Amino acid sequence: MSLWKSRSSGNQQNRVQKEDLVSRIRKDIPRIRKQGENPERDTSSFSRSFCDLCNSPFPNTDLRQCILCGRWACPSCWTGEYYVCNSCNGMITLYTLSDKNSR
Ligand SMILES: [Zn+2]
Ligand SMILES: [Zn+2]
Repeated sequence: MSLWKSRSSGNQQNRVQKEDLVSRIRKDIPRIRKQGENPERDTSSFSRSFCDLCNSPFPNTDLRQCILCGRWACPSCWTGEYYVCNSCNGMITLYTLSDKNSR
């Protein structure tokens, strides 16, 4: 599953605005896990855990914890730009769009 847009990152100003957006969105996203909480272990393997989005097992080193909802995401469920999972990135995109409309 590849939903990533392949455009190069925008200018610095735009990026700073979006980081401010992330802190606002944080209040609206329910926490699935606490920060620092471990991902769901794959009981058939010591070094693998489940991605909270696609429920597939991945090596622990491939999983990252979303800074917004706390879910663990594999590389294909992860948006590196904001350190969030694809689900929260969808929220960021929505907020970005409504932000533009209100101005
Ligand atoms: Zn995944
Ligand atoms: Zn998330």
